[in-house]
Amino acid sequence: MITRNLDIVYAADILRQLDNVLILTHVKPDGDALGSALGLAALMRGNMRHAKVLLPEPVPEKYRIFAEGVDILTQAPENPEDEFDALIVVDCAANERVAAGAGFDFPREDISILNIDHHPGNAVKAEWTCVLPEAAATAEILVRMANLIDWDITPQAATLLLLGIITDTGCFRFSNTKPETLRTAAELLENDADQAMIIDAVYFSMPRSQQLFTAEMVQTHTVLDFDGQYACAVIPEELCKKYQFNMRDGETLIESLREIRGVKIAALLYQTADKKVKISLRSKDPETPVGPLARSLGGGGHEMAAGVTLGDCDLQGAAAILRGEVSKLL
Ligand code: AMP
Ligand code: MN
Ligand code: MN
Repeated sequence: MITRNLDIVYAADILRQLDNVLILTHVKPDGDALGSALGLAALMRGNMRHAKVLLPEPVPEKYRIFAEGVDILTQAPENPEDEFDALIVVDCAANERVAAGAGFDFPREDISILNIDHHPGNAVKAEWTCVLPEAAATAEILVRMANLIDWDITPQAATLLLLGIITDTGCFRFSNTKPETLRTAAELLENDADQAMIIDAVYFSMPRSQQLFTAEMVQTHTVLDFDGQYACAVIPEELCKKYQFNMRDGETLIESLREIRGVKIAALLYQTADKKVKISLRSKDPETPVGPLARSLGGGGHEMAAGVTLGDCDLQGAAAILRGEVSKLL
């Protein structure tokens, strides 16, 4: 559970006092993880602070353009406490999800940690925690904090933070889009965020091979169940090989299932490099939320977008377990 959830005013003041930080986020970083981590670094540098971002994994291709010119560490420093005032963890709800990517033990006692996130049930062990589940994206919280402490938002920071908001709201289509979300996005545009660059990179740059991969996934590897209310895609390794597709770049694949009329719950399963099964879950109906389902299987996330990784079973076994849980909802 949340160690001590601080008021955002107090948390923003902690942020203001930090001069030199290392920023971390979750494994397999998505648009909000990258936009928040890189955007916070840009924010801090624009306000006379020092910040580096630790990203041990390669940045997904479509986001690479946003990482250019940012001070990124790909290897964890051996003794971060000698180099930095604090670690800031953004958009990550669980210690293991930081640890798996960080390259050093996490949580740790030898350095202060500020944990900024929007996932309900955030359990990251930190000295200071600020979790606002009503925020559509962690990037939205960072903009609110910047305003509270009168920080300038440079065009680069604005672009990165808008990337986080746009990707976590599916371009303002998902139900987490609130008036405050749109006001925050408007403010970022006023600060010269490059909206055209974001849309082009994230939505209008799909490799042809990914389009073909998606078509085959929908046609051959997707099952519609429970009178069409449940769409489940099970991705075999051969499909990835055929199109040379890396699932690291597959963050939006599940949208093709969610788009189908009548579908309430969408699921996408694939095998990870360490032979576990990664399940992504989305709901279109607040009456059938997938957050509790993911948590019951040991995962987490939001009510309408959640995920879980299962060990000790193959793809078909995981699909059967999942179908059993879904049957309780539909
Ligand atoms: P994804 O399906 O990976 O796009 O994730 C959707 C949401 O579920 C995100 O908010 C993730 O933080 C969360 N999530 C995904 N996988 C896991 C997991 N194994 N454990 C906890 N939360 C997860
Ligand atoms: Mn994320
Ligand atoms: Mn997020």
